[in-house]
Amino acid sequence: MSSAVPALHPQPFADWGLGLHRPLLIAGPCSAESETQMLTTARGLAARGQAQVFRAGLWKPRTRPGTFEGSGDAGLEWLRTVKESTGLLTLTEVATAQHVEACLKAGVDMLWIGARTTPNPFSVQEIADALRGVDIPVFVKNPINPDLQLWIGALERLQRAGLKRYAAIHRGFSWFERTPFRNSPMWEFPIRLKAAFPELEIVGDPSHIAGSRDKVGLVAQQALDLGLSGLMIEVHTDPAKARSDAEQQLTPADYAALVESLIFRQALPTPSMHDRLEELRDLIDQLDEEISQKMGARMDIAARIGDHKREHNVAILQPERWERIMRRQLRLGGHLGLSDAFVREFMDAVHRESIRRQTSTDAPLAAPAGSPQSTAEGLDR
Ligand code: PEP
Ligand code: MN
Repeated sequence: MSSAVPALHPQPFADWGLGLHRPLLIAGPCSAESETQMLTTARGLAARGQAQVFRAGLWKPRTRPGTFEGSGDAGLEWLRTVKESTGLLTLTEVATAQHVEACLKAGVDMLWIGARTTPNPFSVQEIADALRGVDIPVFVKNPINPDLQLWIGALERLQRAGLKRYAAIHRGFSWFERTPFRNSPMWEFPIRLKAAFPELEIVGDPSHIAGSRDKVGLVAQQALDLGLSGLMIEVHTDPAKARSDAEQQLTPADYAALVESLIFRQALPTPSMHDRLEELRDLIDQLDEEISQKMGARMDIAARIGDHKREHNVAILQPERWERIMRRQLRLGGHLGLSDAFVREFMDAVHRESIRRQTSTDAPLAAPAGSPQSTAEGLDR
C-alpha cells in the first residue's frame, strides 16, 4: 500500500504515558560536552521548573570536519545522571541503528531524528528497523531541504515499524538566499503538515531557526501563535563556551525568563469567540476568492501577451519591465504595511506562473474581449 497521502495515527503527548502535556517544553544543550556541563545545565533548568524534557546531542552531525563531533557513548551515562538527579526525561539525536541500540541499552527516554538524517530514506529506514518492536517515543525533525514529502515519509516509516508515540519538530530549512534567520522557517510547512495530519503533534525548534539568542523569543512566539504543541530550545550553562551552536544557546535563567514572557494560546477557539471568528473568516474567504479570480485573469492576459510576443518574435523575458513592476509593487506594499520580503516572494511566484503561461503552448485561451479580464491593461508579466 503506497498511497500518495499515508494515514498517520500518532498518539498525542497526553497518551504517551510519561506525564507529558501541551505545551511540551524541551530544553538542554546543543551538545553533551561533559558531565559537569550537563548536570549544571539540567539543575539550572529543573530549579526553575520550566522544562519537562532535557535534550542533548551525543553524536553531532557537523557541517565541517575537524569541529567538535560530540562526546558519543560517554554522554549516555551523563544523561542517566541528569535523569536521576533532576527527574527530567532525557532525549537525544540518533542517526544510525548503533545509536538507537546504545540509547535503548542506556535507558534514554526519547529519541529524535535530525534534519540531516530525515532526508535520507536509507538512514530513516535503518532507524525504523532498529525500532521495530520497541516502544520508545521518537521526534522527527523536518528535512534540511524544504520537502514536505520527505518529512511525511520519515514519519510514515516510523509508523510502519509499529511506533505510535511519534511527533514532528519544525527547525526551519536551509535556503540559498539570505534571510534574517539561520534557517528559513517557511511556516507553510508545519501548517500543511498539521492540516494533513491533525493528530500529529509538532514541536517548534526556534533555536535552530533563529541561529542567534536575540531572535529565539520572537520565533518561539510565532510557533506558539500558529498552534504548535511545544518548544525545543537550546540551553547551556555557559553559552559563550559552548562547543557547538554557541550563538543561539540561552542560559537556564534566560530560558526561564523567556518562557515566562511567552503567550501560550489555547489550541482551539472558545465557543464565545465563535461568531466573531466566523465573521472574520468569511471575510478572509471572500478576499482569497477575489485574489484567485484576479490571478486567473492576470494569467489569461499574460498568455495573450505571450502569443503577441511570439507572433512578433520578441523574447518572453523582459527584465526591465519586470523590475519596474517589482519597484511599483514594493512601493505600494510599503504603504499597505506589507513587508518587502513578502512582496518579493509573492511577485516572484506571480512572475514564474506568468512566464509558465507565456511559454506553454497549451495555455487556456485568453478571455473574450469586453470581459472584466480584458480591461486590466498593462499587467503583462
Ligand atoms: C540539534 O538539535 O542540535 C541539531 C543538530 O539540529 P538539526 O538536526 O535541526 O540541525
Ligand atoms: Mn544545535
